Amino acid sequence: MNEKIWLSSPHMGESERKYVTAAFDTNWIAPLGPNVDGFEKDLELYTGASHVAALSSGTGALHLALILAGVEAGDEIICQSMTFSASANPIAYLGAIPVFIDSEMDTWNMDPVLLEQAIQERIAKGKKPKAIIPVHLYGMPAKMEEILTIANKYDIAVIEDAAEALGSTYNDQSCGTFGTFGILSFNGNKIITTSGGGALVGSDKAAMEKARFLATQARDPAPHYEHSQIGYNYRMSNVCAGIGRGQMEVLDERVRQRRANYRHYEEQLALLPGVQFVDEKAGAFSNRWLSTVLIDPVKSGGISRETVRLALEKQNIESRPLWKPMHMQPVFSGAPAYVNGVSAKLFEDGLCLPSGSNLTPQQLHATTAIVKALWA
Ligand SMILES: *Cc1c(COP(=O)(O)O)cnc(C)c1O
Repeated sequence: MNEKIWLSSPHMGESERKYVTAAFDTNWIAPLGPNVDGFEKDLELYTGASHVAALSSGTGALHLALILAGVEAGDEIICQSMTFSASANPIAYLGAIPVFIDSEMDTWNMDPVLLEQAIQERIAKGKKPKAIIPVHLYGMPAKMEEILTIANKYDIAVIEDAAEALGSTYNDQSCGTFGTFGILSFNGNKIITTSGGGALVGSDKAAMEKARFLATQARDPAPHYEHSQIGYNYRMSNVCAGIGRGQMEVLDERVRQRRANYRHYEEQLALLPGVQFVDEKAGAFSNRWLSTVLIDPVKSGGISRETVRLALEKQNIESRPLWKPMHMQPVFSGAPAYVNGVSAKLFEDGLCLPSGSNLTPQQLHATTAIVKALWA
């Protein structure tokens, strides 16, 4: 059996070990220290964000963003349905109610038309949503211009889930810097990793100071431990941040590599009947975190995304269906949802192909050869 080809595996550069060793040498094995400060600075420079707080996960970052937006039990939060469950789980942590919005076909992200319809209907029901969570799925920027216009019109906070989109831009501005808050993830499968970690992005200095305070157990200024609020243990470790500093040195290269993967797939597979890729629309630059493809069995002569997935699996190549929409998940079955059928169709026909920045040309060719053989 050939060596397993993974969907998206960690890819270390040259410098990560140097920063981690420095943490050991100076005994900064704590959830603060020079690597945390350095990593935050690197992220601010790269994204153009005013403030970045390095945290233990993207999920934790989203949880804090909702708290800072004033979300309380019973509040309604608008959330993109087509996403990973971590976009929606923090809503439930707070006892708030997710209201799911389906996607549009241009970017596969939150449909602005359904968004406005949902806001108007929730307001008519006497409940104005407290926040909107759009997602830049697989690195593809959401329609931020339209979404922000609607959010401003109704004066609702936007919390951008850019967990998959570090390195992506929209009108030359970094994803994650458009909303009141944005979140990033450095989980093991993301475009860069700290083994596990995330970040909160924001422009309001006071709110970001509050985020750091809440993330370190909400300790009031006093020589003893004094608390007037509920705190969280969400800061990033200085060891993990060392990996992050090294990864920042190769981030642009990783984006180039992931985009090259996508180009390979598109060149090799786009002409197969029933196979469809999603282009970057005007103003959008995607990091192509994962290369995704739609396979319509009606047009392909019966070949479905499962046919392809199983053929790849047989050759020890990992691929995966797209995220299953949140409004179709058993755990969120009771939540209100504004649905147009797009995300259900994406889930039915969509497949994520091996997308790691460490894939070799041989591995890419082996993958496309297996797919093409199904059409032969
Ligand atoms: C990975 C991911 C998250 C969560 O980030 P973690 O760091 O794993 O907690 C949130 N949203 C989306 C869309 C993600 O892909």
